[in-house]
Amino acid sequence: VDVAASRWAWAEVDVDALRHNVGSLTRAVSPSHVRAVVKADGYGHGAVTAARAALDAGAAGLCVALVQEGVELRAAGIDAPILVLTEQPPEQLDSLAAAGLEATAYRLDHVDALAAAATRVGAVVSVHLKIDSGMQRVGAAPDLIASLVDAVRSSDSLRLGGVFTHLAVADEPEHRATAEQLATFDAALGSLGDADLPAVHAANSAGALAAPSARRSFVRLGIAMYGISPGPDVDHLVADLRPALALKARVSYVKQVDAGTHVSYGWRHRFDRDTTVATVPIGYADGVPRRLGTLPDAPGFDVLIGGRRCPIVGVVTMDQLVVDVRDAPVTIGDEVVLIGRQGEHEIRAEHWAERLGTIGYEIVCGISARVPRRVV
Ligand code: PLP
Repeated sequence: VDVAASRWAWAEVDVDALRHNVGSLTRAVSPSHVRAVVKADGYGHGAVTAARAALDAGAAGLCVALVQEGVELRAAGIDAPILVLTEQPPEQLDSLAAAGLEATAYRLDHVDALAAAATRVGAVVSVHLKIDSGMQRVGAAPDLIASLVDAVRSSDSLRLGGVFTHLAVADEPEHRATAEQLATFDAALGSLGDADLPAVHAANSAGALAAPSARRSFVRLGIAMYGISPGPDVDHLVADLRPALALKARVSYVKQVDAGTHVSYGWRHRFDRDTTVATVPIGYADGVPRRLGTLPDAPGFDVLIGGRRCPIVGVVTMDQLVVDVRDAPVTIGDEVVLIGRQGEHEIRAEHWAERLGTIGYEIVCGISARVPRRVV
């Protein structure tokens, strides 16, 4: 498929950047191994593309959030270990077992249901037990972990794959939460006595980068492998990583507008001089937030055209947005960079995130399925 011809808006996924990032992170966390987190379609980059690049560059395995995501990777021929990071609906467990995915459990009924599914399918399922050390989202209370380990070990159709936890505030390296969570986790591991644990894991990207003591058998790396910072306090730790996703489009229409006219829904932006505007065929249904162009007291956010910064004017609409190109010689078909580099300028997902009061994760995960991905 000629992605660029299918519509004049697309995302480019740079496989070399993914490989570079995973290679660099693999060296940085060694002797821990890397499990690449490719849930949510590889954080918008394409799960299969991201998984293959990560495995090429030294990742020891993968993590996903849903059985269906693991099944997609298996269907693409990927036979690396794939951990499903949380419990799954009972209806999905036969598929999980049949696809040879590793399961997460943190309640006895999860363990029982996995054992039953494994028996039905005739498989042995590897189970990673999750301890809640302070995130208060999912996971077993630390004092229940020993009984869960016993339950897994007493089933012939299950194998203990590991014990893990998840850090809530690793992107704020000065915060006390990480040390407290690791102490809770270690105490829980200590309660297992001499239990011979196959794998222990705790760190996400920020933990792996900022908290060396969180690097255990492996680290679960998501956002950093895509070259995006987990949060502003750890930007310096991802400085040698390369953003792997660019969001681009082509100018679909150019027109002159008069001073005093308004643009887009709600007429929120008024032109104070005669100017030239360009329409770009990408909008909030593609993941460009409606508010990106119009925050109170802030100038419109820029896109790059012809190597220049051009502000979005008015609200972003579902399928299109309008930019003020002033006196630049812009024509229909010119390339527009919304995220990525053009000339001397670079716009990053983190810049959108800062403007919108969110994190880079939400920006790239929000680029919708109708935006074709072109692997470059
Ligand atoms: N581990 C778990 C349990 C997660 O839910 C996630 C993602 O949210 C990750 C690891 C990867 O986190 P990050 O993208 O910050 O590296």
